[in-house]
Amino acid sequence: MPTIATIETCAPAVPLDKITSFSNRTVSERHYGLVKIRSTDGVEGIGFCYVGTSGGAIFTKIVKDLFKPLLLGADSYATEAHWAAMYQEALLQGRAGTAMRALSALDIAMWDLNARTHGVPLHKYLGAMDLNEVPAYASGGYYLDGKSPNDLAKEMTDYVALGFKAVKMKSGRLSPAEEEIRLRTVREAVGPDIDIMMDMNNAWSDTTQAMRYVRRFEAYDPYFFEEPFLPDDIDNHARLAKLTRVPIATGEIGYGRWYHKALMEKGGASILQTDAAVCGGITEWRRIAQTAASNGLVMLPHWFHDLHAPLVASMPNAHFVEFFANDQVLNFRKLLDRQLSFKNGKIQLHQEPGLGFGFDEASLAKLARWE
Ligand SMILES: [Mg+2]
Repeated sequence: MPTIATIETCAPAVPLDKITSFSNRTVSERHYGLVKIRSTDGVEGIGFCYVGTSGGAIFTKIVKDLFKPLLLGADSYATEAHWAAMYQEALLQGRAGTAMRALSALDIAMWDLNARTHGVPLHKYLGAMDLNEVPAYASGGYYLDGKSPNDLAKEMTDYVALGFKAVKMKSGRLSPAEEEIRLRTVREAVGPDIDIMMDMNNAWSDTTQAMRYVRRFEAYDPYFFEEPFLPDDIDNHARLAKLTRVPIATGEIGYGRWYHKALMEKGGASILQTDAAVCGGITEWRRIAQTAASNGLVMLPHWFHDLHAPLVASMPNAHFVEFFANDQVLNFRKLLDRQLSFKNGKIQLHQEPGLGFGFDEASLAKLARWE
């Protein structure tokens, strides 16, 4: 029986190599919340999440003060019971934000620990749909100082040259006319057969503003419009979904099954980008994915390809992993001891037990201390 013996946590701040912008914010470093759960059998599971550009200390405090006392000495197989206990404990601290991200990291670590205890890779432990590889789209297209539409198009054609059939670019920061030029330049460069996803990162406040862009974008056949509005503004997502023939995708900052239920019921999105390191871990992600399947929706989880590759591989209505080919934006990669490889636009799944990778303790030691 894998009894939880120790829980350690830390929150490294990892600087970005280049200051990078989205539609409405600029990032110079990222804080990640990490946990390690070790069982009395000597097996260790890892979990992690993103906590923004200043949330690291809040994360470790929540792990240590709120959740760790509930888990020490418990049987790690009882993932549902532990999820329920942590969620109950979070009642007054918040079922969103860093509290839910800490719950997610611990839940992920327990699934990882249990799969490693059995000696099987996570996608097989979860009941695989795909055994060896999963489709991925190349994510990038950020705003950098001095980056021209041609530079953006070159970035996208470089992903296509690596074998990706789908690419994602940021949008919504500039005027409708300027953004049309960026999209047109990319479409002309990659040709008609490559899917182009567009991520607005909550750029718009209402459908009147959104449609000034959307009317121009539709001519270039985008695959989806991502996060057009703030995540809470489900009604505007639903309005925009009725106004455009391009599918709406959202959910990367969606917490828990009830938020996603409301999003589904109102028709706010046809693609859910629910992030297991945000929504409540692997336990909650699978619940949401199965409800999405009942509603005829697909799952395209948000970043953390190392975590989401095995989840996409185990869920029939999950179709793509969002893949970052370098560590310019998803610099979490710098904290890991091995990277996923890809071939012809498909991620090659790790075949080692659990998640199949660990933290790079030497890199980590320069940035944070386990406590
Ligand atoms: Mg996004």
